[in-house]
Amino acid sequence: MTTRPDTTPAADPDSRTDADVAVVGGGAAGLSAATFVARYGLETTVLDGGKAAITQCAHVENYLGFPAGIDPNRLLELGRTQVETEGGQVVDERVTAVRPADPDGSESDAFAVETGSGELIADRVVVAAAYDGEVLDPLADAVADTHAGTEAADDADGSPPDPFVPTDGGRTEVPGLYVAGWMSDETVHQVGVNVGHGARVGLALARDDMSDRYWPAVGERYVDWVVHDGRYGGDGWDDHVDEWFEREMLPADDGVDRSVVDAAREDLKAEFLDRCVTAEERERRDRRGQLRLLDALDDDVVREYAAETFDTDPAAIGLPDEAADGPAEGREVGDR
Ligand SMILES: Cc1cc2nc3c(=O)[nH]c(=O)nc-3n(C[C@H](O)[C@H](O)[C@H](O)COP(=O)(O)OP(=O)(O)OC[C@H]3O[C@@H](n4cnc5c(N)ncnc54)[C@H](O)[C@@H]3O)c2cc1C
Repeated sequence: MTTRPDTTPAADPDSRTDADVAVVGGGAAGLSAATFVARYGLETTVLDGGKAAITQCAHVENYLGFPAGIDPNRLLELGRTQVETEGGQVVDERVTAVRPADPDGSESDAFAVETGSGELIADRVVVAAAYDGEVLDPLADAVADTHAGTEAADDADGSPPDPFVPTDGGRTEVPGLYVAGWMSDETVHQVGVNVGHGARVGLALARDDMSDRYWPAVGERYVDWVVHDGRYGGDGWDDHVDEWFEREMLPADDGVDRSVVDAAREDLKAEFLDRCVTAEERERRDRRGQLRLLDALDDDVVREYAAETFDTDPAAIGLPDEAADGPAEGREVGDR
């Protein structure tokens, strides 16, 4: 796990902490977006608290990878652990408002994300708060002020435009502000679709960050994947990448400094090589992945499984002897 600075809003109401990215809402979409953003390498803090859709599901039975379904709280717990494993933080705090950190906009485009116990200043914000669009009201007022007296002030029907309707991958009219999940107009009310939308938004944010650092063609090709050792690297690979880069990736804008072009190319090479995992490392990751899943299970379920599958003496692993006590009411031993 990567060690990152603590960006938890402290108890002091005047406190201001910083993060590259604040994610408002730690449900299906927010945790998914945060996973992508944290894996990309930005300091990411998820603030979660408030009315949720996902906890209203009795049991999630249509989410890929869980053949007999999964309890929504267990799914959220796994999602939180995943964000934290990638170096992000998840804080149980309800956000009360998102507004410009610098109301004049003259010094910074950052956002102030307010909670009951402090303020988080973030360069980018993903709002994935399902039903709680009101957190954006102060920002809407600020955007309306900047539109006042311009052609963009009204839609064709005379109403003010909604600056938070996402256009592509959760991007909005406000640079650095993204809307993910059920709150956006880009999804339907299903966990899997909103997890997917969160991924799309997290990826869009990472791409925008990379585009800002270099130029759009470099950002647009970013994807988060891990490959078998040997796919990249080896004899002639360096020259091959140089040639591809000069042919397809050079910035349209001739004004980009050559040192920036060289840095982008070297960064891309390092990123490609970083993604390769050896057979041994794959085995280690597979084992670690299974152990993390076991961590999320109830100990009694793990014990019961071990007793049934490996014919273990129940008493030796701390289980009551079902032969003597009988299975729990309404359930057969081996009920899977
Ligand atoms: C009754 C019901 C049953 C459902 N059953 C199913 C089902 O069986 N299968 C299925 O696929 N889908 C089901 N859904 C739909 C599914 O739950 C949603 O589509 C999905 O969870 C939406 O993802 P989301 O991330 O947008 O919202 P959520 O997953 O709800 O996440 C929103 C998060 O934001 C947090 N939040 C809210 N306001 C704030 C704030 N101000 N500050 C900080 N955090 C905040 C909430 O606490 C929550 O954690 C059901 C929905 C409902 C209402």
